[in-house]
Amino acid sequence: VSDRAFDVIVIGAGPPGEECAGRTADGLETAIVESHLVGGECSYYACMPSKALLRPGEAVAETERIPGAREAVTGSLDAEAALRRRDQVIHDLDDGSQVPWLEDRGITLVRGHGRLDGERRVRVDDELIEARRVVVIATGSSAALPPIDGLAEASPWTNREVTTAKAAPERLLVLGGGVVGVEMAQAWATLGSQVTLVGATPTLIPKYERFARDQVADGLRRSGVDVRTGARAIAARRDNGVVTLELEGGERLHGDELLVAVGRRPRTEEIGLETVGLERGGYVEVNERLRVGGFDWLYAIGDVNGRALLTHSGKYQGRIAADVIRGRDIEATADVPGSPQVIFTDPQVAAVGHTLESARQAGIDAREVDWPTGSVAGASFYGRGADGTARLVVDERRKVLVGATFTGPDIGELLHGATIAVVGEVPLERLWHAIPSFPTRSEVWLRLLQAYGM
Ligand SMILES: Cc1cc2nc3c(=O)[nH]c(=O)nc-3n(C[C@H](O)[C@H](O)[C@H](O)COP(=O)(O)OP(=O)(O)OC[C@H]3O[C@@H](n4cnc5c(N)ncnc54)[C@H](O)[C@@H]3O)c2cc1C
Repeated sequence: VSDRAFDVIVIGAGPPGEECAGRTADGLETAIVESHLVGGECSYYACMPSKALLRPGEAVAETERIPGAREAVTGSLDAEAALRRRDQVIHDLDDGSQVPWLEDRGITLVRGHGRLDGERRVRVDDELIEARRVVVIATGSSAALPPIDGLAEASPWTNREVTTAKAAPERLLVLGGGVVGVEMAQAWATLGSQVTLVGATPTLIPKYERFARDQVADGLRRSGVDVRTGARAIAARRDNGVVTLELEGGERLHGDELLVAVGRRPRTEEIGLETVGLERGGYVEVNERLRVGGFDWLYAIGDVNGRALLTHSGKYQGRIAADVIRGRDIEATADVPGSPQVIFTDPQVAAVGHTLESARQAGIDAREVDWPTGSVAGASFYGRGADGTARLVVDERRKVLVGATFTGPDIGELLHGATIAVVGEVPLERLWHAIPSFPTRSEVWLRLLQAYGM
């Protein structure tokens, strides 16, 4: 017999879980189960601390590009102060400030490890709670550890340690050239570490446009990062505090810490999936309504379903799932392919929808149009060297945008216009009438459309 019952039980209080619960609580009695910190990986060990670590270096770089401001920079970056600010951003790993958000919405917080215990039942430690209507799995993901000889024993850092470290290691080895790898290499290089980045693929951030990959690699090198691509690590070990990473071919790299950033693993091992006949360990597959196949009472949102491992995409899924649960006829259509995403390196990369390559692979008659981001009047205020590239990917048959990528300093804010154009399938004929303000960098839109032939 269950101790308590709710209409909706959400397991996991990361941003997607919270977003979903916040919406279902408007009319349905909702509980959210959390085993660690309300706010999830994002608030404490991912998005928020990583951006807090990157921002000081970015601000100094921008200031140094601008005559008049440059002269005001008289010292070097204060890593200790930056780390103190990071600690404020993550509230010293205390979720007390996030809990009132749940309370204000009448959501019951159940602390403990939740696992399914058959249909519509969730066991939280010793308590059994029942869902009158649905259970939403939002348990997120953890860092994946590749099966490299000696790696686990070498006490590597994951995203948790690299985002909460109390001091910059003298030498930091980064294994993985994806988004987490490049952002953390950039951050710690600006905070004083000597960073070596080892990526197995021929280029960094391989899912992005080629120019973005090259510019990020160049930017990292400018920040002093030793970038090794196409390099496969085969063994690791730690002796007397020093970590050694052995590469295929025999080269050995040494560091004081080793960050492993080679991807994520869904948290589905210990959530009772087997009690409802589902396999544990993998991503929980869902349809466009975020419903788990074959069940009318089970949903999965956020990293755990593997659709798009981003906070904003998970929150979008949380909104869609909540709407479906509340009886609305709606589907998730904008999180795949190519959720909007900003990589906060210097230069930043901001992308949405298809790259030229992925559009062509998807059978779209795609044409690209490129323009230098730094060539419009508004860019001059970002200082000399504020270069970058803007690319639109056009579906030539439908005459709409199916993708866009921008690179450059602080370019992330330019992305939402592209997201609206892609998701809204705005015809180019109509887009031509969207006047960018002068002198903003958004004028690059005008140049792109002119280059296209408008
Ligand atoms: C270094 C780094 C930087 C990132 N930067 C960005 C960024 O800038 N922008 C962006 O959009 N995305 C970013 N991401 C991705 C982002 O962090 C994730 O997409 C997001 O956190 C996913 O949210 P989630 O709720 O699905 O998972 P999580 O944030 O992992 O939250 C899941 C929650 O469920 C809880 N939980 C798990 N199992 C149970 C259980 N059995 N019972 C009870 N509770 C449980 C966990 O404790 C956790 O609180 C970054 C990721 C990393 C690693």
